[in-house]
Amino acid sequence: MKYQLHLAHLYGDLLNTYGDIGNVLVLEYYAKKMNIELTSEIISLNDTFDPKKFDIAFFGGGQDYEQVIVSKDIQSKKDSITSFINDGGPILAICGGYQLLGKYYIGANGERIEGIHALPHYTESQINNRFIGDIIIKNEETGEIYHGFENHNGVTYLGEGEKPLGIIQQGHGNNGKDKSEGAIFKNVYCSYFHGPILARNGNLAKRILLTALKRKYPNADLSEQENLEIKFTY
Ligand code: GLN
Repeated sequence: MKYQLHLAHLYGDLLNTYGDIGNVLVLEYYAKKMNIELTSEIISLNDTFDPKKFDIAFFGGGQDYEQVIVSKDIQSKKDSITSFINDGGPILAICGGYQLLGKYYIGANGERIEGIHALPHYTESQINNRFIGDIIIKNEETGEIYHGFENHNGVTYLGEGEKPLGIIQQGHGNNGKDKSEGAIFKNVYCSYFHGPILARNGNLAKRILLTALKRKYPNADLSEQENLEIKFTY
């Protein structure tokens, strides 16, 4: 039997910094190896997000300009995205998408860009500074190391129920102060890594696909998928 997963690419036509869409391609690549047929569709302005229709969501990053547009539109999807999250739906959210799942982001010009408050973090602005460069983090629970590239003005502070995606070994991460990078909340994985993150971190792609499979097919024997060996390219 071939497994079927359907992915919502949230605002894929607006939020795509440094080719974040590559994350969807990487998920498709590993899905094939895991005997999964992964289909996707863009859910953007004026579309509805039906949490029952999707098994995974991906939400990329963007400039403040696009984030303001998305921030207004996404309020109409706030309840459906929040219920998907609270029901254990897996999401990968990068940079601007990460910020918008939280409470708010103060843009580079000081404007408040409202998030959907589904996750408890919030993001302030830095004055005349951005965090740019290569970054390496380690997830404390799994021991997995993730490599990436960050470029953001926002400085994010995690809230209750959120754990960092990893602890900084090199680079700045969420805020340059507390050594945290990204967030994990239920089955939502957030990060500032562009590049795209999954291209260099196949172990994270596998983790997200497995999470979606276990949720959709709770009685399936997924040992073959669990045993998939990930080859690293960095
Ligand atoms: N505009 C946001 C910031 O600068 C997000 C940037 C991004 O997605 N790369 O923090």
